[in-house]
Amino acid sequence: RKTRIAILFGGRSAEHDVSRASAANVLRSLDPDRYDATAIGITREGRWIVAGAGNGAGTGSGALAIPNDGPQLALLPGGQGRALVLDGHTTVRDLPAFDVVFPVLHGPNGEDGTVQGALELSDVAYVGSRVMGSAAAMDKDVAKRLMRDAGLPIVPYVAMSAMAPIAYDDAVAAVGSPELFVKPANMGSSVGVSKARTAGEFDTCCKLAFRFDSKILIERSLAPIREVECSVLEDATGLIRASQLGEIVPSDKHGFYSYDAKYLDADGALLRVPADVPPALADRIRELAIKTFRVLGCEGMARIDFFLHGEQAFVNEANTLPGFTDISMYPRLWEATGLPQSELMDILIGHALERHKRSR
Ligand code: ADP
Ligand code: MG
Ligand code: MG
Repeated sequence: RKTRIAILFGGRSAEHDVSRASAANVLRSLDPDRYDATAIGITREGRWIVAGAGNGAGTGSGALAIPNDGPQLALLPGGQGRALVLDGHTTVRDLPAFDVVFPVLHGPNGEDGTVQGALELSDVAYVGSRVMGSAAAMDKDVAKRLMRDAGLPIVPYVAMSAMAPIAYDDAVAAVGSPELFVKPANMGSSVGVSKARTAGEFDTCCKLAFRFDSKILIERSLAPIREVECSVLEDATGLIRASQLGEIVPSDKHGFYSYDAKYLDADGALLRVPADVPPALADRIRELAIKTFRVLGCEGMARIDFFLHGEQAFVNEANTLPGFTDISMYPRLWEATGLPQSELMDILIGHALERHKRSR
C-alpha cells in the first residue's frame, strides 16, 4: 500500500509564507503512485487545519493556502491509529494514522525542536532532525559554541540579551571590527538581520533584532564575502553525504542576502550552481559541512551555509529545515548532484521510517 504522509506547513513564525511556498513544492514532488499526502496547515495563530488531501493539493499556485475553516487538529493522530489530542481542542474529522510526517516549517515553532517534540510524543515517524539537533542548529549562539568547541571555523561574535546590553564600542572591541552584523539568535530567512557601522545604527539594528528574539548575535561583518551553501543528506543506512556547492550572489542594491533579496525581488540574488570554487577548497567545504552536521546532531537533512573570505571558509549556519520552494538551494543542489527531487523525498522519508522502526 501507499505510504501515508502528512505535510505540516505554515506555522507561527515570521517564515510562515516561505513555508507555504515550500510545502506546495514538496507536495508536487511526491510520487503519487507511492504516497498518499495530506496537507495540514498551521495558521499564524497556531491552529492546525487540514488544508487538503491528495498529492494534487499543491499544484497550481505558488504557495499552499490554509483554509479559514476546516477540520481542526490539536495534534496529529499517533502512529497506532489513535488520535492524540493534547490540548483539549477538537479533532473534528477522523484522519487515518500517518506513516510519516514531513514538517515543512521554518523558524521558531517548527524548525527549532518544538514540533519535533510533539511528533516524538505522538509516536509517529517524521522527516529530519530530532529535538536536540533542531534546537541546537536553530539557536545560532548555541550552534556557534558547539562549532567553536569542535574546532570549526566561525566568524567572531558575541551574544547579547536584553537584560545585559552591550555598548557599541564594547561589541566592536569584542569582535574586532567597527562593521557589525546584528541578528536574532533564533530566526531564519534573514528576518531581523541588519548591518551597523555606527553607534546610532547599532542601536536601531539591535531594536530590530530584539523584535524577533530575546537573545541576539553581534558578529564581525566580513567583507568582501562570498556565500556558499552545501546540502547534506543522511539515508536510512546512516550514510551521510554532501552535495555540490552552490553560490549566492546578492544583487548590489540589497547589500546582503536579505529577506527581500531571498524571496521578494526576483532579481534579488543570483544562484550559481555549481559554485565557482577551486576543487580542493570545495572538498574542504563539503567535509566541513558533514562535520558541522554531526557536531550539531543533525539528522536526515540540513543545508550548511558558509562564508568565503578569500581562501578562508567560515561556517555560518546550519538550516535543519531548509527552504523547499521551487528556487530553493537544498533541492537544487541535489538535482545538480544527480539526485532528482522525487528521489530526494524517497530518501528523506526512508530515513524517517527506518529511524522510527529502530526506536520502537
Ligand atoms: P538567516 O538564518 O536568517 O539566514 P544568516 O546568519 O544567514 O541568518 O544571515 C543572513 C544574511 O546576512 C547572510 O546570508 C549574509 O548575506 C548576511 N550576513 C550575516 N552575517 C554576516 C557576517 N558576519 N558578515 C557578512 N554578511 C553576513
Ligand atoms: Mg538560517
Ligand atoms: Mg542564512
